[in-house]
Amino acid sequence: MKPEEQAVLDLARAYLTQLAEQGERELWIPKADLLISRHSSENAEPFAKKKTPGVRERAPAYGISGERDLKAYFNEIKDCRKCPLCRTRKNFVFGEGNPGAKLVFIGEAPGADEDLEGRPFVGAAGKLLTKIIENGLKVPREEVFIGNILKCRPPGNRNPLPNEIEQCEPHLIRQLNIIRPKVICALGTFAAQTLLGTKVPISTLRGNIHYYQDIKVIPTFHPAALLRNPGWKRFVWEDIQLLRREYDREVGSDFNDA
Ligand code: URA
Repeated sequence: MKPEEQAVLDLARAYLTQLAEQGERELWIPKADLLISRHSSENAEPFAKKKTPGVRERAPAYGISGERDLKAYFNEIKDCRKCPLCRTRKNFVFGEGNPGAKLVFIGEAPGADEDLEGRPFVGAAGKLLTKIIENGLKVPREEVFIGNILKCRPPGNRNPLPNEIEQCEPHLIRQLNIIRPKVICALGTFAAQTLLGTKVPISTLRGNIHYYQDIKVIPTFHPAALLRNPGWKRFVWEDIQLLRREYDREVGSDFNDA
C-alpha cells in the first residue's frame, strides 16, 4: 500500500472512531460525494461545516445521519414552488450551520443580500447577528444552525404574508425535526409569533422562556430592529444571557473554551 493510501485509511479510521465515540451507531453513506463535501474547502452545501479563522477546531458535534438527512431534505425542497415567492426569488435560502446544532436561530425571511448569496443573515443584520453569537454568546457561528421562517425573499423586504408562512412553515418544522436542537432563539416578531402560535408582541414575549414542542424558545428583538433602535441593545443583551444560561443548563458549557 502506498503511503498516501495508508494516510487516507488512517484518517478514515480516526474519523470513524470519533463518530463511534460520539454515539453514532449507524453508518450509511449513500453517495461518495458526501465524504468529499465534508472535506471540500468550497461551501458546496448550505449546511456544510465551515472553519472560522482563529477559532480552535473541535470534533464535530453532529453525526453523519443529521448531515445526510439535512442534505437530502435540502435537495427535496430547494426548487420549492408552493408560494408565489418562488417567482421573484434569486435563490432559495435553506439555512446553514451545524446539522446537529443544539442551538438554532430563526429569523424572518431572506433580505436582498441573502437572496443574492443563497445564505441566511449575511447582510448588515447578519453581521450583527454573527457578533451577538460569537462575542455575546461566545459560540462560533458555524456551531449553531441559522434559518428563517420563510426560505424565499418577499419582494422589497415586505413582511411575510400569512399564506407564505403557512406554506413555508412545514419546511422549518422538518428542519427542526432533523436537527433536534435543545434551544431556539426566535429573532423578531414573525419568528417568535410563528413558532409560538401567538399574536402577542415581541416586546412582551422577550425576556421569558417559551416552548415549541419540547424545545425551549427564547425570543429577542430582530438584529435589523436593533440596528434601527440601538437603545434595545440592553434587552438583547439580557436575552442572550438568558439564552446562554438555558443552553448551558440543557447541554453543558462545552463552548466555554471556544
Ligand atoms: N433577516 C432575516 O430575518 N433573515 C435573514 O436571513 C436576513 C435578514
